[in-house]
Amino acid sequence: MQNKVKKLVLLGSTGSIGRQTLDIVRVFKDKLQVTGLACGNNTELFIQQVKEFKPQLACCAADLQLPAGITRVSMQEMASQADADVVIVATTGKVGLQPTMSALLEGKTVAIANKEILVMAGDLLKQLATRHGGAILPIDSEHSAIWQCLQGEDSDVSRLLLTASGGPFIGWPVKKLRRVTASQALNHPTWKMGKKVTVDSATLFNKGLEVIEAHWLFDLPYEKIEVIIHRQSIIHSMVEFKDGSIKAQLSIPDMHLPIQYAIFYPQRMVNPNIRPIDFSRMHNLTFEPVNYVDYPCLKLALEAIKLGDTYPAVLCAADETAVNLFLKNSIAFTEIATIIEKTLGMHSPVSNPGIEDILLSDGWACDMALKAARKEI
Ligand code: MG
Repeated sequence: MQNKVKKLVLLGSTGSIGRQTLDIVRVFKDKLQVTGLACGNNTELFIQQVKEFKPQLACCAADLQLPAGITRVSMQEMASQADADVVIVATTGKVGLQPTMSALLEGKTVAIANKEILVMAGDLLKQLATRHGGAILPIDSEHSAIWQCLQGEDSDVSRLLLTASGGPFIGWPVKKLRRVTASQALNHPTWKMGKKVTVDSATLFNKGLEVIEAHWLFDLPYEKIEVIIHRQSIIHSMVEFKDGSIKAQLSIPDMHLPIQYAIFYPQRMVNPNIRPIDFSRMHNLTFEPVNYVDYPCLKLALEAIKLGDTYPAVLCAADETAVNLFLKNSIAFTEIATIIEKTLGMHSPVSNPGIEDILLSDGWACDMALKAARKEI
């Protein structure tokens, strides 16, 4: 078992998590093989990746000439047909949703970095995994931390403590936040990530998504999931058990670690590129409660969780639309929350939604968020 080469399919290979996943493949060349690569429009990098990793299947939204011997398929076909021990979903937004469903329908193990799809359709994805014998593994650092803390435990969990760095604008007054530029928001103090997740980390919307993600991954009610500000991003999350004991997972902020944990689980691997913590240089680890007035996007996300039904899908779509507009300098940073709030306020939810209801709500919310941005609602 230990010497078997693991086959990986990577959806979203040119994004931040995708590139870091391929770094890991380079380190563990004799233990990992890439059988499928999929990307959006970054064709220049994609073609380099395809030449280097020689997958059997490739998928790219843009038109491009693939080297001989590589079959072009859709992302859904790749997720369901490729020979894979793990399908890594490193896409952003909703793109990865249907491919993830296809992989789970085939009973595959799916490692998810793309949290929006769990937020939009966590219930459906879990049902598919259970029914067809597949598994959903976390890549998000907080959820990887919780997963690691839960190893060997079968006692009740009394609380999950999700840590949040607070982003680059912690403590800034609203007046100053209105003038925040995209490049300021993209300058995260502790993590290097993709653009959408970096803006979501600055608004703390990301942490709201992570609460929903934790609820589905670990089967815990929302009342047992708390968010605390921990500026240093060294403790990636904590689990409190019924006897009051708390376990935490610590490491430097580096996504290579949770990615390789998901790939090789339950084995831990030595990666010489991951720096250990130097405690002689670390002077303090701090914790603060969240001030929800400073983070309206987080507050809105937590409200959408309580409402359930199609609200989480609308939440994700409104945020995705608003963040794209902010990155194009079309709206102010503070308008992201206003647009999400207006869109949620206009929604007529569908209870026990199926995939069609979720996708319809998503499309509706994108349109509504654009109208909100144009001040038409
Ligand atoms: Mg995270």
